[in-house]
Amino acid sequence: MTTGGPGASPSRNSRVLLHVCCAPDATVPWPEMTAEGHEVDGFFFGSNIHPLGEWLLRRDAVLKLAGIIGAGVEITPYDPGSWSSAVARDRRASQEGGTGCAVCFDLQLSAAARFAAERGYDGLCTTLTISPHKDPGLINGIGARASARAGVTWIERVWRKRDGFKISVARSAEFGLYRQKYCGCVYSERR
Ligand code: SF4
Repeated sequence: MTTGGPGASPSRNSRVLLHVCCAPDATVPWPEMTAEGHEVDGFFFGSNIHPLGEWLLRRDAVLKLAGIIGAGVEITPYDPGSWSSAVARDRRASQEGGTGCAVCFDLQLSAAARFAAERGYDGLCTTLTISPHKDPGLINGIGARASARAGVTWIERVWRKRDGFKISVARSAEFGLYRQKYCGCVYSERR
């Protein structure tokens, strides 16, 4: 099954870094890009997640999925303080999908792009566009700019196309993955 729609993609056998916002959202992009012939490692940036116990649940789910796929994954250190100082001022005035989320996406994708450049990956993609609550155009634009700054190739995909989100829900259950009830930050938890 193919999801995600058309978009720039490196040739087969390329090393791709996949920014993983959470394990359930990665259950479509990760196996699909692997099936396309790429070597796909995950990159989990979770400093937006509140509280620590929730981060631990999501981190463990990402590690579990990486084990199922048989891929590598980088877990960045949990640093909610730096996330808050960068995002909180904007985020307080907005709901999910607002300006604070754009800052949050930029923090996550810039960190992933820097890591991809440092480790010599051929391309970078994100799982974020599988969400029906997020703007894929905004995410792909931020990802492309972050990748350009770092000097890596951005792979534009919209994973929610062709029932991507619905498939991810079914696969998460099949794999027995923890599935969160809110986006991640303290503001989304309170809604
Ligand atoms: S709602 Fe989600 S994307 Fe928006 S700021 Fe919070 S964690 Fe980030």
